[in-house]
Amino acid sequence: MKPSVLLSAVDLHKTFKISTHTRSTRVLTALDHVSLQLATGETLGIAGESGCGKSTLAKVMAGLLAPDSGNVLYKGTNLNQIGKEDWKVFRRKTQMIFQDPFSSLNPRMRVGDSMAEPLKIAGLSVHQQRSELGRIMTAVGLPTDVADRFPDEFSGGQRQRIGIARALAAAPDILIADEPVSSLDISIQAQIINILLQMKTEFSLSMMIVSHNLLVLRHICDRIIIMYLGAVVESGPASEVFSRCRHPYTEALIAAIPGFQTSTEAKNKLLQDDLPSALSIPFGCRFHPRCRHAIERCRQEVPESEEHAHGHSAACHLSSHLYG
Ligand code: SF4
Repeated sequence: MKPSVLLSAVDLHKTFKISTHTRSTRVLTALDHVSLQLATGETLGIAGESGCGKSTLAKVMAGLLAPDSGNVLYKGTNLNQIGKEDWKVFRRKTQMIFQDPFSSLNPRMRVGDSMAEPLKIAGLSVHQQRSELGRIMTAVGLPTDVADRFPDEFSGGQRQRIGIARALAAAPDILIADEPVSSLDISIQAQIINILLQMKTEFSLSMMIVSHNLLVLRHICDRIIIMYLGAVVESGPASEVFSRCRHPYTEALIAAIPGFQTSTEAKNKLLQDDLPSALSIPFGCRFHPRCRHAIERCRQEVPESEEHAHGHSAACHLSSHLYG
């Protein structure tokens, strides 16, 4: 049976006005007509360099940021057309975990009180709150005696566990994690990834994970979306995007993973220049100034996204020519 779509983005466009040093205002395009779907039970990875728009996408999908145009649909219902009560339900059912879990915790509040807030809002008695909190803390590997302490008494890894526990206390359907492990030591990263995987099964979650670390996404995700300067350039099953990518940008990101390919194989594919500014997105294929395969057509014409295998699409004029 085909899994149902839980959360979807339809043609999302989001810009920010930026003041320059000359005091003029310029427009930064963070999301350029992005569409995607998150199926029930699925883990979807969003990858790309810093500044590609992936964190903005996560916030828009979580309802924390309004798009300029386009829609987010939760269980088929357009969030632009729901009332206050349904909006509250959506905000509770879609929880977000941030790169810096400290930023989402009140430093003057004991972590037990922070974690119990969603349970309190849900109307649970103090006894029920304690028992549910105990269950969640055990699930994420936190000793229950941490509840009386304050956020600044914890290490980064423990804070992230607290952030996950707080999100789970709201009984969400969807967990959106924005770079959940990038500020942590390598040894702790694996622990947090494993907790996320366990929680997905234990709490029947669908997840959207934003990360610049493709190896993390390959390990944890069913499907991956690759973004470049605010647009989706490739999407497909995680295993296929890695073994048979269809876009030169994805190819370059994979080549940059240490030890993933032989050094000579990888060397020719690496990105040479920095990511251009989202204040002036190149005409035609936005990747053309950095693409070693670019031809005149790439400078003139925006490539449409094309499906090359079931569920595997790329926006590149030369995809079939380059990758068969
Ligand atoms: Fe490179 Fe052209 Fe494909 Fe863009 S459309 S990725 S410039 S080959």
